[in-house]
Amino acid sequence: MFDVRDLTTSYGPVRALDGVSFTAREGEVTAVLGANGAGKTTLLRTASGLVRAERGQVRLDGRDVTRAPAEDMARLGLAHVPEGRGVITELTVEENLRLGGLHRPARARRADVERICGLFPVLGERYDATAHVLSGGERQMLVIGRALMAAPKVLLLDEPSLGLAPRIVTQIFDLLRSLVASEGLTVVLVEQNARSALSIADVGVVLNLGKVVVQDEAAALAADEKLRHAYLGF
Ligand code: ATP
Repeated sequence: MFDVRDLTTSYGPVRALDGVSFTAREGEVTAVLGANGAGKTTLLRTASGLVRAERGQVRLDGRDVTRAPAEDMARLGLAHVPEGRGVITELTVEENLRLGGLHRPARARRADVERICGLFPVLGERYDATAHVLSGGERQMLVIGRALMAAPKVLLLDEPSLGLAPRIVTQIFDLLRSLVASEGLTVVLVEQNARSALSIADVGVVLNLGKVVVQDEAAALAADEKLRHAYLGF
């Protein structure tokens, strides 16, 4: 479904991704883990066309999208939720959601807003509120909901747990799990919080200094004490 082959990206002399290959299977959560600077954010930014790949390929549903511009990605079925919960605080929850579906026909957009509010009831309750009153967890739900407005097949999520209380992280990860089950979505979840990510992921990919150290079933990675200590921080 989502496949990267030999993906290599540099910022000037800094090689941030160095020949990364892995596959995220359809209808599964694939966690991409690793320390600060491992290349996780760069991987998502390259996959979504925000940074140019120096070498290698990104394939979506068998189609090569490596050179597709970022603005075409939503139409091609890829949604990217960057780190930092960039909601537009002056707009309402509804208006923020609608921004995610601008390339969709108006009628589909209305149905999508209802669907998202069904998935995230807290957004339905705050429909007319301006986004600046939302908590961190609610903002995270809003940016995920906004990405889902594009009806993606693949959702790339960068550090959704950052700075949130453990209880809220659990809530968001549980929501993600049920989204995958109900929508058949393919999720690539970048996280420094490896323990929580592995608890909901099917598969984990560990990066270090821009290279894949290992890809395996999430349960197997969580059970590997040496690997956990060396790369996952728990
Ligand atoms: P973090 O969790 O801190 O975001 P990460 O695993 O996502 O870490 P990246 O942000 O992808 O890692 O960074 C990978 C490498 O690329 C690091 O060495 C980083 O310093 C470098 N890097 C990232 N962005 C840039 C940039 N815009 N210009 C130059 N170097 C960069």
